[in-house]
Amino acid sequence: MRTIRVKKICENCEKEWYYELAKGETDAFCRFCQHPLEFSKEIEMSKRNRKNRLRGKRNQRALKKFLGPKAEDRGILGGADVIHDHHFFIEAKQLNKIPQKLKGFWQQAVYHCPAGRVPCVQLHELSKRHEDDLIFMRLEDFKNEVVDVTTLKFQESTGDG
Ligand SMILES: [Zn+2]
Repeated sequence: MRTIRVKKICENCEKEWYYELAKGETDAFCRFCQHPLEFSKEIEMSKRNRKNRLRGKRNQRALKKFLGPKAEDRGILGGADVIHDHHFFIEAKQLNKIPQKLKGFWQQAVYHCPAGRVPCVQLHELSKRHEDDLIFMRLEDFKNEVVDVTTLKFQESTGDG
């Protein structure tokens, strides 16, 4: 039978414990003081976390597939990350929506970008070092113009490939 593991602090004795609940079960007694405990909120949260983890995994797999066979999935460590060719380390993140402000910057970049050039957006935080500015670009351009070029260089320098 499938069980779900939820952490709960007893409101009576204030002791914390991980409870194993069977599917559909929402009540248990505190293992220390036998106070009745109710778990619907914790179960809901745990389900939501699981869903988000699965979604993150899907995004990670899609990214890996897109970047090609050399992208190595490191899944379990540190959540959703993908490395490529021992050179790049990508923290894969999924949002319900990319913030409107960033989308606006992106539209500007695409609008101004002449044909044959690669649009990018630079983000600078006021009074911070320019070395730490962020650049964002389309994944496809990143693959073609950055990852594949670096991979080629790496293969040439090591005779690997
Ligand atoms: Zn208790």
